[in-house]
Amino acid sequence: MRTGRDQQSLSYPLRLPDEVQADALRLLNVSRQVINATVVALWPQLDEFGKRDSTYAYKQVTAMIGSSHPHGDRQWRCEAEQAGRILRGQAERKKQFALILPILEQGMIQPKTETRRAGKNRKAIKQALADLREETSDGGSAVELQSLIEQACNFYLTTGCWPSTYEEMQAIPVLKTGILPYAGDDGPLMGQSYRMSLDLEQKQVTLAIRFPDEAGTWARTWRENTMKMVLPESILAHVKQGLVLAPSLREIIEPDGTRYAVLDFIVEVPVPEATAWENMHTVLGFDWGVRTLVTASVVDLDGHQVGRPFFLDTGPFDGRQARTRRQIDLLKAKGTRLQARRDAFPQGDPRREPATRQLGVLRREIAQCWRKYEARNQDLAHLAANVLLLLAAASGCELIAGESLKSLKSTGPGKDARGKWRNWRNNSQIRGELWRVLRYKCYLAGIRLEWQQPRQTSHTCPRCGQPANTYRSPAHLGTVNEWGAWLACSNPTCGWNGSRDYAASLNIARLGATLIRHAQTTGRIHHPCIANAAVKAVSYMGAVAVLRLPPPVPRDRLLYAGRIYLNGWRKSIKLRSSYSTETMLRLCGLPIRAKDNAQNRRF
Ligand SMILES: [Zn+2]
Repeated sequence: MRTGRDQQSLSYPLRLPDEVQADALRLLNVSRQVINATVVALWPQLDEFGKRDSTYAYKQVTAMIGSSHPHGDRQWRCEAEQAGRILRGQAERKKQFALILPILEQGMIQPKTETRRAGKNRKAIKQALADLREETSDGGSAVELQSLIEQACNFYLTTGCWPSTYEEMQAIPVLKTGILPYAGDDGPLMGQSYRMSLDLEQKQVTLAIRFPDEAGTWARTWRENTMKMVLPESILAHVKQGLVLAPSLREIIEPDGTRYAVLDFIVEVPVPEATAWENMHTVLGFDWGVRTLVTASVVDLDGHQVGRPFFLDTGPFDGRQARTRRQIDLLKAKGTRLQARRDAFPQGDPRREPATRQLGVLRREIAQCWRKYEARNQDLAHLAANVLLLLAAASGCELIAGESLKSLKSTGPGKDARGKWRNWRNNSQIRGELWRVLRYKCYLAGIRLEWQQPRQTSHTCPRCGQPANTYRSPAHLGTVNEWGAWLACSNPTCGWNGSRDYAASLNIARLGATLIRHAQTTGRIHHPCIANAAVKAVSYMGAVAVLRLPPPVPRDRLLYAGRIYLNGWRKSIKLRSSYSTETMLRLCGLPIRAKDNAQNRRF
C-alpha cells in the first residue's frame, strides 16, 4: 500500500523574475546533465529502487554513486533526489508491468487448449487481477496503469511481440527539460543551494538560489541576491491549513521554443474525503470501433464518467494486415492470368503443364497468406479481450458491457486495402472471437459480461441522450456523414462533441449501468435500448464527474508519461497527472487543444 493517502501535495508554479531567468536556466542545464548521467548510470540497477528505506530518494542514490560534477554536496543531493524519483517511479511501473504482462500476452489462453489448461490459467489470471486490484485499491494508480497498458500494447502492435523485459519497452527516461527539487537540501533556513522565506502579511515569498556563472563558477555570495515573488490568494489559503514543502526549480519550454524557469511552490494539505474506489459500482463499456480497434469508457451507476477513456489504436498493425491483404489480391490476380494461360490449351495438351504447376505453388502461397492474416486477427482478439479485462480490473468494474453481435455493424466504404481490412476486422467472425475470449476470461476473473443493444449507440449524444449526427471530422460539421468519425450533438443546450467511437463506448456503458440498476430493483436481467427512458434519464457528465476522479498522485509519481489518443483526434499527448488539463476539458466536454496540455497547468 502506498503511504501518504491522507495528505496530498499541491504545486503552484511561480515564474521567476526576468533578471534571474538566465542564471536559473544555466543552473537547470547543469543539473539536468548530472541527473541524466545519474539515471543512465543506475538504470541497470533499476530493481534496487523498488525497495525504499527512506522517503528521500537521494539517500538511495548517493549510497550507490557519487556526483559526476564537483559543485557542492547539497546541490548533488538535490540532483540525486530527482534522479532517484525518476528511478523509483520507473521501478514501480516495472512491478506493475510484471503484473499485467501475463494477462496481456495473447498466448495465455490458447483457444484450442482452453479446456486442458484452464485450471492453471484460471489461477494465474485470478492472482494477477487480484494483485492489480490491490495495487489500484486507492484508485490513484489506475491512470498510470492505463498508460502502461497502452505502452505495452503499442510495443506489441509495432513489433508483433511482447517485450520480454520492462527495459526493452521503456527507453531510459532522461529529462528533456530541467528540474531541481530542493528536497535534498537542508531546508529553507539552512539550505546550501536555496533559501526561502514567506511573508503571509505581505503575501510574498523571498527566494535565493545558488547557481553557476557563465564561466561555470559557483559564487559564494548567492544568498545576498534575493528575489521576491507574489503569492496568489489561492496559495495563501492552502499555506494556512497545510505544510509548505521544499520547492522545486523547473524549466518550461513553450511550443514556440521560449524557455523560462518557475519555482514550484509546494504545499501539503489533507486530502478531501473521497468515495473509495473499491466501493463504487462501475461499468466498463467498449465499442469495437471504426477508427480505433477498441474504445472503452467507465461510468458509475449514476451515469458519471470515471477516469478517462481508453483508445487502442492499431496503426502499424493495420498496415501489416493491409499489406498481407494486398499481397493476397495480387496473388489472386496472378492466378487468374495463369488459369487463362493454361485454358488456352485443350485438356490433355502437355503445354498446360507449366501453368498448372505454377498454379499449385500459387495456391499454397495464398493459403499461407490467409493463415498469417487470420492468426494475426486472432492475436488481436486476444489482445483486445485482455486489455478490456485489465482496464475493468484497474477501475474496479463489476460489469463489462459490449455491443450485441446480433446486428453486424458495417463500417461504410472501404475501397483500399486498409479499408478492406478494417471492414474485415469488424465482421462477425473477429468480433465473435473477441466476445468468446472475453466471456471466458471474464468468467475466470469473476467479472460479469453482458451484451447491449447496439442500435443508435453511435448516433446518440452520450450527455443529453438526444439523437445526434456524425460528421467526417470537427472541421466538416456542415455535412452529415453517416459513417463519420466525429459525433456532434445539435441540441443547443448541450453541444457535446467527440469521437464517434468514444460516444458509443459511453452509451454502451450507460446501457450497462441501466441494466445493473434494473437488476438491482427487479432481480431480472433486461437489455435496454438507448432510446429507453431509464437510460435517457441518466445525466452523466458535468461537475460531479470531477469529484469522482482518482485522488491526485503524489509528487514523486508525477513523472510517468504515457502517450494516449484523445477523442479520435489522434493527437499524441503526454499525461503528467491524473488531474491534467486535458482530462478536465474532456470530462467537461470541451474541445482539447495541444497548448492546454502545458505541463505546469493542473487543476
Ligand atoms: Zn447532447
